Amino acid sequence: MSFRPQQDLFAGSSRLVYDDAVDLTLQSLQAYGPQHDHWAVAWSGGKDSTCVLTLIVHLIEVGRLPRPKTLSVFYADTRQELPPLAAAAGEVMEGLKRRGNWIRTEIVRAPLDKRFLVYILGRGVPPPNNNTLRWCTRQIKVDPMAAAVERALTSVPDSQQVLMITGVRQGESAIRDRRIEMSCGKDGAECGQGWYQKTLPEAKGIRGRIATLAPILHWRVCNVWDWLKIYAPMADYGGWATKVVADAYGGDEAEEINARTGCIGCPLASKEKALETILLNPAWSYLSPLLGLKPLYRELREPKHRLRKAGAEILKDGSMAKNPQRMGPLTFEARLMGLARVLEIQAACNEAAERLGRPRLDILSAEEEARIRELIDLGTWPDGWDGDEPTADTPLDLVFPDGSVQPLLM
Ligand code: SF4
Repeated sequence: MSFRPQQDLFAGSSRLVYDDAVDLTLQSLQAYGPQHDHWAVAWSGGKDSTCVLTLIVHLIEVGRLPRPKTLSVFYADTRQELPPLAAAAGEVMEGLKRRGNWIRTEIVRAPLDKRFLVYILGRGVPPPNNNTLRWCTRQIKVDPMAAAVERALTSVPDSQQVLMITGVRQGESAIRDRRIEMSCGKDGAECGQGWYQKTLPEAKGIRGRIATLAPILHWRVCNVWDWLKIYAPMADYGGWATKVVADAYGGDEAEEINARTGCIGCPLASKEKALETILLNPAWSYLSPLLGLKPLYRELREPKHRLRKAGAEILKDGSMAKNPQRMGPLTFEARLMGLARVLEIQAACNEAAERLGRPRLDILSAEEEARIRELIDLGTWPDGWDGDEPTADTPLDLVFPDGSVQPLLM
């Protein structure tokens, strides 16, 4: 398929409202882009990385940027993506493929046993939280991305660095304060966005092979909406399916809502703003059963569903564990209960999807379900647990970190 010449975003009257922001972006890409033959984008499917990805392809197509030999696009699929964002990502991916073989696309997923639901319901590791158990971002986003980039680097001569383009955006304050935060938990952020920038270049095996550029670092969120909602969908700017991305964040009110996106029911987010916003759109309201995921993850962390170390725990190095009676993994009953609930939620969404002719939900595939059941049948426990520990709601003598014991008061 051939594309008609696109309009130059910077010519004539069709200018973005925030011209300076776009000019800075172009300047950074013109300065650093030509130093690298191979470019790559770690793409989460959220607004910022979708913005930078479609923008640079547009800039290349209108001749404002020299085309690299290759542009590798790595789409991070956690399997827990918000359905409109997943659908938009699929369409953007198709658009990328149609542009010729200088763009290479790859869907990046964690290995089966490390995926979010398999790890929780099969291996028995409790849903993540903000305190001691934040295992998810690295495991389902950063590590698979680092592995994919490392594989791709084998086709690039050792002497060359790949230019990794990220959608990290800190707004004007970043320029003012000369500060780049790595946090990914704030409003409007995509979970993991800072981590990609911080971790990928440090990852074992690819250290020194990657140069990172964040060309929309200084963009304000309204610049992003302008691009995704107005310009990018127009044929002259590439005809990208990005309006759906903006709609997923709240349509016309997106700027005010500016929801943080990530996995559906993310146990680390205080509110489910992105999903709630999506459900207000009649086209997606059939996904309302998904509101059951967050309470399920909270419930699974309760003591009655988990094991607990009964007393003083001696670690591998011979020292005493700081928290001798720590709570641990999910019981098999809890895992089967969680599995049944997730399947019910998915079935309810898909029954409505069939009836309405809307996209189906796929957060737990037959393969993933089978693996969860297999891990349970095999009696799988996380490292350091045998399964013979008491459940965490069992009354026990109190053991202190120094080994002293306060007997249970009956
Ligand atoms: S969105 Fe939430 S659950 Fe998903 S990886 Fe990020 S912090 Fe973890």
